[in-house]
Amino acid sequence: METKRDRKAWLKGGAAVCDIPAEPQQRPRRLVLLGAPGVGKGTQAELLAASLGACHLSTGDIFRAAKGLDACDRTPALSAAIEHMKRGELVPDKTVLALVTERLRCLRCEGGFLLDGFPRTVAQAEALENLLQSQALKLDAVISYDLPLEQIVSRLSGRRTCPDCKSVFHVEARPPRTEGLCDHCGGKLYQREDDRPESIRVRMHAYETSTAPLADFYQRRKLLTAIPADGAPEDIFQRTLHALQNGRRKS
Ligand code: AMP
Repeated sequence: METKRDRKAWLKGGAAVCDIPAEPQQRPRRLVLLGAPGVGKGTQAELLAASLGACHLSTGDIFRAAKGLDACDRTPALSAAIEHMKRGELVPDKTVLALVTERLRCLRCEGGFLLDGFPRTVAQAEALENLLQSQALKLDAVISYDLPLEQIVSRLSGRRTCPDCKSVFHVEARPPRTEGLCDHCGGKLYQREDDRPESIRVRMHAYETSTAPLADFYQRRKLLTAIPADGAPEDIFQRTLHALQNGRRKS
């Protein structure tokens, strides 16, 4: 069975320490992955994490991990955040920023990071910029995965997630070796509440109004690289590596 980093420090926050920490990298990569829900960011983040040694930091995974806790072990803000998530709405910036700030250690990780699902608003992007500046860190690139709407909806409705190790599969495009079971840890795959049709509509609207303007934000900073997100995950991954290598040559 493939070993997967546990990301305890990111998922639990506070004083939690990863059981399998990232290997220090000579030049740690610090990337933001942008794209509408269902575009395949999570899958690309996993592939990139394995290839670059950087940690996959998803804010959505923090909320999903919190959902599994007893209500008394959650702060009121986290419980409210879970309700927003179930409806497909964005969690308020204040809550998201408090969680990320509490996990500053993960941004400093010597393995680098792949931010997936954060930032999602211009206010969050500005806050991230300030957080990184305060640590004398810089983003290497912002990858924007682009896909037409009808393909996005098909990807979301076929997506299945592992509750234990958070790996993501698709009933057609990336089926697990054994139907319904995670390839990595054997967990029982499930469909996320927010991958149901009524939540998908709300999420797409939130994306168009709040997150799409981030492309301009990062374009102005000359950090943005757009990648077509059609085709097999491995092809998209190769496009991403190619774009990162080209970007590095230019810089
Ligand atoms: P994701 O797995 O990234 O699609 O996130 C799942 C859900 O968590 C989103 O639909 C939002 O409700 C919430 N969420 C995750 N990250 C953020 C963020 N950076 N800002 C606001 N809400 C977020």
